[in-house]
Amino acid sequence: MLITGAAGFLGSHLCDRFIREGHQVIGMDNLITGSLRNIEHLFQLPNFEFYQHDVSKFVHIPGHLDYILHFASPASPVDYLRIPIQTLKVGSLGTHNLLGLAKSKKARILVASTSEVYGDPLVSPQAENYWGNVNPVGPRGVYDEAKRFQEAMTMAYHNFHGVDTRIVRIFNTFGPRMRLNDGRALPTFIAQALRGEDLSVFGDGQQTRSFCYVDDLVEGIFRLLHVDYAKPVNLGNPDEITITDIARQIIELTESSSNVVFGDLPVDDPQRRQPDIALAKSLLDWAPNVSRVEGLLQTIAYYRAMDKIDLQETTQ
Ligand code: NAD
Repeated sequence: MLITGAAGFLGSHLCDRFIREGHQVIGMDNLITGSLRNIEHLFQLPNFEFYQHDVSKFVHIPGHLDYILHFASPASPVDYLRIPIQTLKVGSLGTHNLLGLAKSKKARILVASTSEVYGDPLVSPQAENYWGNVNPVGPRGVYDEAKRFQEAMTMAYHNFHGVDTRIVRIFNTFGPRMRLNDGRALPTFIAQALRGEDLSVFGDGQQTRSFCYVDDLVEGIFRLLHVDYAKPVNLGNPDEITITDIARQIIELTESSSNVVFGDLPVDDPQRRQPDIALAKSLLDWAPNVSRVEGLLQTIAYYRAMDKIDLQETTQ
């Protein structure tokens, strides 16, 4: 099995899971936003191999391949605003390369799409049949449109070439190994709370998000890979909360003396984000198991275990 984006947050957890399931895992990553630290514990294992490679360039894997999980892509606004062209390329050229590989190896391929394909949604919660409200030329367009193209390309390979494909639309996920300085709300808040700094909320903080713990997401992906369904499937936790409330909850759980402060809202920041997971429930018999508090405690414990120097360095 090939996992792209293996050194990233989700890719590294997928490597752990599929190795535990007995798969021979090849991890591929160009380390543009990921870190070898996330997978260093796997290097001594006989059923793990790592290739440092940019999947937007031609991808060659010798031998037989059963499955491809395509998770390579910058995933946070800070990253894709810094590297917009690479973001567009990995969603388009990268996906094309991996679909070609899946076709030639007769492998099943699952691609990581995102709730961002719904843009700033006009309906809530968002079900898979909602087509979205995306501004293609706004700052987030590079990510949203790359992922929309990825879905279209994947369906075309399925319909035209008969490639065995899966598309997962992932909603905000959190857990250990998220980068502290990647601009996403939860790691930023946790780092600020642990350092005793004020938590910087964008806008009035009344925008909502739904946060899924990484173990739940990985379980959903595992199940989706093993059912016969090629159309997109939402995976996320419908437990919706305002950004201000989650900031306050993190202050409480870290027992921090920090306060919440409010700043400018970024352009095209979605107001609401909540998955409709009825399809995942019926198709995969899946629903999130880990409560927000439990997931936050696990994540906070992970960051606390990082030494102080790391916490300082990675949040600057
Ligand atoms: P991440 O930044 O932690 O991991 C992405 C990995 O992909 C990094 O290790 C990076 O170095 C690698 N990468 C990027 N471009 C590459 C390229 N051209 N060639 C090879 N490797 C490349 O992000 P993540 O949160 O783990 O996200 C993984 C995937 O899941 C992404 O496709 C993302 O769009 C999707 N996703 C994540 C979330 C979430 O909440 N974390 C939500 C929706 C979708």
